[in-house]
Amino acid sequence: NSMVPKFVVLVAVSGGGVMAYSESQSDHGASIVESSETAPKRKKLVVLGTGWAGTSFLKNLDGSLYDVQVVSPRNYFSFTPLLPSVTCGTVEARSIVEPVRKIIKKKTGEIRFWEAECFKIDPVNKKVHCQANAGTNLNGNGEFVVDYDYLVIAMGARANTFNTPGVVEHCHFLKEVEDAQKIRKSVIESLEKASLPNLSEEERKRNLQFVIVGGGPTGIEFAAELHDFLSEDVSKLYPNIHDLVRITVIEAGEHILSMFDKRITSFAEQKFKRDGIEVKTGYRVTNVSDKTITMMDRSKTVTDLPYGMAVWSTGIGTRPVIRSFMEQIGQADRRALATDEWMRVQGLDNVYALGDCATIYQRKVMEDISAIFKVADKDNSGTLTIKEIQDVLGDICERYPQVELYLKSRAMGDLVDLLNDAEGDEKKEDKELSIEEFKNALAQVDSQVKFLPATAQVAAQQGEYLAKCFNRMKECEANPEGPLRMRGAGRHRFRPFRYKHFGSFAPLGGEQTAAELPGDWISIGHSSQWLWYSVYASKQVSWRTRALVISDWTRRFIFGRDSSGI
Ligand code: FAD
Repeated sequence: NSMVPKFVVLVAVSGGGVMAYSESQSDHGASIVESSETAPKRKKLVVLGTGWAGTSFLKNLDGSLYDVQVVSPRNYFSFTPLLPSVTCGTVEARSIVEPVRKIIKKKTGEIRFWEAECFKIDPVNKKVHCQANAGTNLNGNGEFVVDYDYLVIAMGARANTFNTPGVVEHCHFLKEVEDAQKIRKSVIESLEKASLPNLSEEERKRNLQFVIVGGGPTGIEFAAELHDFLSEDVSKLYPNIHDLVRITVIEAGEHILSMFDKRITSFAEQKFKRDGIEVKTGYRVTNVSDKTITMMDRSKTVTDLPYGMAVWSTGIGTRPVIRSFMEQIGQADRRALATDEWMRVQGLDNVYALGDCATIYQRKVMEDISAIFKVADKDNSGTLTIKEIQDVLGDICERYPQVELYLKSRAMGDLVDLLNDAEGDEKKEDKELSIEEFKNALAQVDSQVKFLPATAQVAAQQGEYLAKCFNRMKECEANPEGPLRMRGAGRHRFRPFRYKHFGSFAPLGGEQTAAELPGDWISIGHSSQWLWYSVYASKQVSWRTRALVISDWTRRFIFGRDSSGI
C-alpha cells in the first residue's frame, strides 16, 4: 500500500470500543480519511448531503452499528418549505436552520462530519473525493478522499436554467438560505432605488417590476409572499412609489400550479388577478439581460419586459458531480440517478441514492414483469392460466405499489374483470391467457406511471426507510422479509420502499392556503392556512427551530415584517 499513515488525529471511546482514526496521504497529495485497523470492525458508511434525505437518514440511523462519516458543503439542515417566508422577513433565516453537529451529537455512536463538497465518486475503488469549502487550506489544495463500504448519496439537485442565456448572471434563485437572504436585500434595494430623485418615470417603473419565472409551488408562494409584504408592510413606508409596483409571474404551461387539482389552480389564478399579480401563461423566457426579460409565446411572438428584480424558479436539474457519476456508471441518458425500490443505485450493490438526486426507475417494471413471466411460464407455452396470472400479479404488486393502484383503479378493463370473475371459480382459473396479451395490458401501466415528485416529503420518507433498513441489516440478512428475487434464489432482504402521500400545500397569500389532502380532499382558505401553520410547526427538526419559527410568526402578526434590508 503506497499510502503512508501520517498521524493519528483522535482517539475516542465509542459504544464501549476504542475508536481511532488516522489521516494518510494518497499518491496525488489528497489526504485520506480512514478508520484505524485497531477500531472494532464496523462497516464504513459515508453519507453525502445534509438536506431532507441525508438528515432524515441520519436522524433514524443507529450510529453505533457503522463507522459513519458525513460530507456536506453546509454544516446545517435548512427547512426549505419556509424559504419563501425568509425572502420577505416573515421568518428569519436562523429560525429555519439546525446545525448538523447538533443533530448528530444526539445520536448513539460517533458520527464524523466534514464540511466539504464531494466532487468525484469512484465506485470501483469505493472512494469519494472531496474538496474543503473555499478558503480552507488543507494540505495545499483542500482535497481529501474518504473510503466507504456503503455510500448514501443525498446531494439534492440544482436550479434548472434550461441553459437560458443571462439567467445565472441576472436572476435570483430560491434554493438555499443564502438565496432567500439575497432576495430579501434585493427587494428592499429595488424600492430604495425607485425612490431616488432624478429618476425618469420609466426607470422608476422598471425598478419596481418584480418578475417570477416559473408558476410552480415555489414561484407562486414567493409571488404571494412578496405581494403581502409590499401591500401590508411596505406601502405605508413608500407612499410615493407604491402605486407603481408590479408583480408578474411568467409560466410556460397553460396554468400555474399545474401539478395541483384544477380547483386549486383556478382559485389561485383568480386570487392573483384580484390581488393585481399579473400571470402570463404560455410564455417561455428566451433571454435575460440586466434590464430586460425576453419571452416568446406559442405563436413565436417575442415580447420584452423591463424588470428590476427577477427570481428564476423553473424546477430542478442534475448537479455536475451526479452527472459525471451517472456517465461513469452508464446512466448518462437519465435526469437523475436511477435506483431500484430499495434505493440502491442500479448496477451498484453498496451505493444508495435518495431525494432529489435520485429517481426510482419505473420502466424497470416492464423488465421485471418479463422476468416474472419467464419464471412463471414453466412449460414455455407462451400462455399462463388465470391462477398463475393472479400469483404473478400478487408478486408484481408487492414490488410495485403503482401497479397495485393501477389495478385497483380498474383501468385495465377487461383483464381486471376477467381476473375478478375468475376468483373462486376453479374452471375459470384454468383458463389460459396469452402472455403477450397480458403484457400489452400491463404495458399501459408504464405509460401511466408517474415518477415520485421531488419533494421534501419523498426525500424524508426515503431517508427514514433506508436508515431502518441499515439498522436491521444483520437481522434481515439472516431472515429476509422482502419479496422473492426474480434474478437469483431466495428473498430480498427488505420490503421495498413505499411512499405515503400526506398531502400538499400551496400558500397563496392573505392568510389563505390551498391544501390537497389524501382522499381527494381539497381545502382552500383561512382554515387551511391554520392547518399549514400547525403542520409546518410540527415538522420542524428541533424544539429550538420550532420555538423560533412560532415566535417569528407571532412577531409578524404584532409588528409586521421588517423592511430594513439587513
Ligand atoms: P436537499 O435538501 O437540497 O439537500 C442536498 C444536500 O446535499 C445539502 O445538504 C447540500 O449542501 C448537499 N450537497 C450539495 N452538493 C454536495 C456535494 N457536492 N457534496 C456533498 N454534499 C452536497 N418540498 C415539500 O415537500 N414541501 C414544500 O413545501 C417544499 N417547499 C420548497 C420550497 C423551496 C423554496 C424549495 C427550494 C424546495 C421546496 N421543497 C418542498 C422541495 C424540497 O426542499 C426538496 O425536495 C428537498 O430538499 C430534497 O431533499 P434532498 O435531501 O434530496 O436535497
